[in-house]
Amino acid sequence: MAETYDVAIAGGAAHGSSLAYHLSANPGFSGRVLVIERDPTYARAATSLSLSSIRQQFSCAVNIRVAQAGLAFLRAAKETLAVDGDGPDLHFRENGYLYLASEAGAETLRANHAVQTAEGADIALLDPEAAKARFPFLNTDGVALAALGLSGEGWFDSYTMMQAFRRKAISLGAKYLQDEVVAVEREGARVTGVRLASGRRIGCGAFVNTAGASGAASLAREMGVAIPVESRKRCVFVFEAAQVHEKFPLLIDPSGVYVRPEGRHYVIGGPPPEPDPDCEDFEVDWPQFEEVLWPALAARIPAFEALKLVRAWAGHYDLNVFDHNAIVGRLPGYDNAYLACGFSGHGVQQAPAVGRGLAELIAYGGYRALDLSDFSFERIAAGRPLLERNVI
Ligand SMILES: Cc1cc2nc3c(=O)[nH]c(=O)nc-3n(C[C@H](O)[C@H](O)[C@H](O)COP(=O)(O)OP(=O)(O)OC[C@H]3O[C@@H](n4cnc5c(N)ncnc54)[C@H](O)[C@@H]3O)c2cc1C
Repeated sequence: MAETYDVAIAGGAAHGSSLAYHLSANPGFSGRVLVIERDPTYARAATSLSLSSIRQQFSCAVNIRVAQAGLAFLRAAKETLAVDGDGPDLHFRENGYLYLASEAGAETLRANHAVQTAEGADIALLDPEAAKARFPFLNTDGVALAALGLSGEGWFDSYTMMQAFRRKAISLGAKYLQDEVVAVEREGARVTGVRLASGRRIGCGAFVNTAGASGAASLAREMGVAIPVESRKRCVFVFEAAQVHEKFPLLIDPSGVYVRPEGRHYVIGGPPPEPDPDCEDFEVDWPQFEEVLWPALAARIPAFEALKLVRAWAGHYDLNVFDHNAIVGRLPGYDNAYLACGFSGHGVQQAPAVGRGLAELIAYGGYRALDLSDFSFERIAAGRPLLERNVI
């Protein structure tokens, strides 16, 4: 007879491991949890290749609420995720995001700011003079307005967060298996089990797809559901330069180029390349640095005319091409299959709240701490986009 678990999760990075932890810790759930992860080195998981930043500056209220829940989680993670008194240090640096807008983008920045402050986010609008006074290294030519996160925004270590979720989940009884889900078996509207690349079959009471850019869309397709999620390559470059400000924020230029400190270096990335195909290669687009990123950076921060490129990497967004927002909840056509993907470049900060929400949906049949139903697949089926305008 096949081995059976109450919940089988495909993909054990930030989202799969957050869910495994939140299920195992949920007093309303007493079942057995199995996480099936094909690559426990996580070398190509977006979670490992992420810039790992958290912001409140979204245009959709639900994303702001999710970020606030993520923030509360990060602040308490050392205690919450401790095993035998040993808690993780997620190296959370709360330096804020600084969005710079040109005249063309100022109205959108103002509209987003109204949504953010209505949700209680601590964001200040600054005119160019105020931005320059706070960050004297900036050239504010062409800047009409800026928005700065005064608290609740910054960056952390998403790889350590994922490993801490995993370790804590295991300490609470969850199991991890190195294998790949290749097929999902069903009887009517119920998933009954999964087939693995090794040839094993695992029976399950519920199935969750958290397989990210490399696996979520193909697994959903295997289950007969087309989801508008594509794998889009994004490159990150690391450079060395003189320190220009002690509280350097995550700065977003009107051109879409963004930069932030990382230890004694800086990391920089930019707007989507043209063309921006659905792809799985990990080749770094080196000319992007020389031709797009550095010129924009040096124009905005003249001190960075002198810098040394140290290294670079490429990772993949699980981009929801329908509306740039997560798809979370029940998979249509199934009573016991769930999905969390399409995070479109803001998925690690959403992992704590989404894992908690999915655990509630599985344990209680509905969301409790935070309503995530805006993210449900129904909006896609109905052709009603929940457009997130602030995608980096
Ligand atoms: C360059 C870059 C910068 C980013 N910056 C940020 C940021 O600043 N802030 C932010 O919040 N987000 C950011 N993101 C996005 C964020 O990293 C992702 O949204 C998030 O990590 C997604 O986590 P996940 O667990 O859903 O997927 P992943 O981390 O991709 O993990 C999916 C896992 O599923 C496994 N898998 C796939 N198929 C199968 C299968 N069939 N069976 C078993 N296992 C399978 C894979 O091996 C993988 O480990 C960034 C992403 C990139 C690439």
